[in-house]
Formats: sequence, structure tokens, C-alpha cells
Amino acid sequence: MKRRELFSFLSSSIKDVVREKPEERLVVRPPYYTDMSAFDIECQNCEGLCATSCQEQIIVIGEDKTPRLDFSKSGCTYCDDCATACTPDVLTLENKIKIDVDVVISQKSCMSWEGVMCFSCKDPCLEDAIDFKAMFMPTIDSDKCTSCGFCISRCPSYAIQLKEKK
Ligand code: SF4
Ligand code: SF4
Ligand code: SF4
Repeated sequence: MKRRELFSFLSSSIKDVVREKPEERLVVRPPYYTDMSAFDIECQNCEGLCATSCQEQIIVIGEDKTPRLDFSKSGCTYCDDCATACTPDVLTLENKIKIDVDVVISQKSCMSWEGVMCFSCKDPCLEDAIDFKAMFMPTIDSDKCTSCGFCISRCPSYAIQLKEKK
């Protein structure tokens, strides 16, 4: 049995675990923007330069012609390429603003909070922002987390979620 299948089996065997698909409602913009309204104006006449420049392929252009992030396969390396490609300057390197969402672990969905040993989210976090208490009960340290999203696709039970910044 492959590792992911094993986690899926363990996850489905836990009663009361709430499975929630991540980021279905929240629109997450690329980093480096300062004016939210610029997406609805400048992006309308752009061919999605930011999306084609992103090597992680996490920027998708929506039906409204504005860019949003999709963390279902990868995360943001803060490589600056999207801002460099954005000639209308919706994204700029003048203010290196990070992705403006909070990343949190749902205790209802997380296998580790249900007593199953799992470190799937810990390895991809280069900031070491995910704290485990005695190898269980992980939480994300918002002071260290850069909202890069790399941990999200690694979680076999969709427990890592995006929330609007408080
Ligand atoms: S490159 Fe800039 S103007 Fe074009 S879609 Fe992306 S954010 Fe909008
Ligand atoms: S900073 Fe790089 S990895 Fe992040 S969204 Fe922009 S192009 Fe993609
Ligand atoms: S989103 Fe935060 S917790 Fe997840 S890998 Fe990135 S820095 Fe770590």
C-alpha cells in the first residue's frame, strides 16, 4: 500500500473527522500587490503574464480575468517572477507583500489531532513553522508562516486551510 493510500485508509477509519475541501471559496491573490481594486481594472487587458511566468504553476486566471492562487499541487517560492512579468504593475517588487491569508490546521480534520502519527505537513515547511506537541497536535506558528502554501497539498486529510487574515 502506498504511503498516501495508507494515510487515506487511516484517515477514513477515524470517526468524527470532518473532511473539508480547502480554499473552495476564498480567492487568494498572488503576492506583491498593494491595491486590490487594480485586479479588476488592469488585469482585464492583460493576457495573464503572471500566470505564464510562475514556474510553480500556482497562478490561475479566473473567468473574471483576474489571477488567484491554487495550492492544490504546489506552493509559492516568492521567486518574484510574477511581479517582474506584470508590466501593468498590479504586482510590484516595491512592496514585497506576502500572500495575504492565514494558514491554519483544522483540529477537526487533522489525523494527528485524532491520535494518528502523521508528519506530512512538517517536511515541506522550510520555515519550520509547524509545531508538534510531543509528536501530535500540530499548530502553525503565524509569526514564522509565510503563507507559501507548500504544506497544503501534502495533507492527506485536507486539514490545512486558508482563512482571511484577521
Ligand atoms: S500580470 Fe499583472 S496585470 Fe496581468 S493578470 Fe497578472 S496581475 Fe494582472
Ligand atoms: S512569487 Fe514565484 S512562485 Fe510565487 S506566485 Fe509569483 S511566480 Fe509563482
Ligand atoms: S504555509 Fe506556512 S506552515 Fe505551510 S509550508 Fe508554508 S510557511 Fe510552512
